Amino acid sequence: MFTLIELPYAENALEPVISARTISFHHGKHLQGYVDNLNKLLPGSPYEGMPLEEIVCKADGAIFNNAGQILNHNLYFTQFCAGGSEPAEDSALLKQIVKQWGSLDAFKDDLVAKGAGLFGSGWVWLGAVSDGTLVITQEPGASNPVVRSLRPILTFDVWEHAYYLDYQNRRPAHLAELWKIVDWEVLESRYQGK
Ligand code: MN
Repeated sequence: MFTLIELPYAENALEPVISARTISFHHGKHLQGYVDNLNKLLPGSPYEGMPLEEIVCKADGAIFNNAGQILNHNLYFTQFCAGGSEPAEDSALLKQIVKQWGSLDAFKDDLVAKGAGLFGSGWVWLGAVSDGTLVITQEPGASNPVVRSLRPILTFDVWEHAYYLDYQNRRPAHLAELWKIVDWEVLESRYQGK
C-alpha cells in the first residue's frame, strides 16, 4: 500500500508562486488519485510489494503511469520551501552546473526553455549520471529519469494541472517563477545521494 505523502509546508507556504488552491488540488486530488489508482492495480500483479522506483523501471501501462506520477510528485513537492533558498557556495551541485552551463542563470534558462518546449503533458528534469555529470531531460506523461538510469535531482511539472489555476496558459512564466521556491539543500542531498 502506498500512501499520500505529507507536504513539508502549509498549503499556502509557496504563495504567490503557487497558490494554496493549486497545492490543495494538486496534492489532495491529483496525487491522491494516483495513489488510490495504484493501490487498486497492484494486488495480484508482479509489482506488488516492490519499491516505487523499481515499479517505474519495470512496469508499463496503467501501473507505470500511476507509479510514475507518485514518484514524480513525491520528488516535486518535497523540493520546495517557503521563500526558497540559494545553493551554498561550496555546493558540489552548483560547481557542476557552472562547469557545464557556465552560470546558474544559464542553467535556469535552459531548464525553463526545455520545460516550455515540451509538447503536451510531462515533466522537465535535471538528472545525474553516476559520474556526477548533469543532464536535462524532457519526460512525457508519467516518466522519470530513473528509466534512463539517471538519478533524479530536480523536476518542474508541466502538466496543466500544476499551473492552470494560477497562470492559465502561461507555462514559461510559471516555470521561471518556480526558482523562487526551490530548496537547494534538498537538491544538494539528492545530488550527493544522501
Ligand atoms: Mn502534477
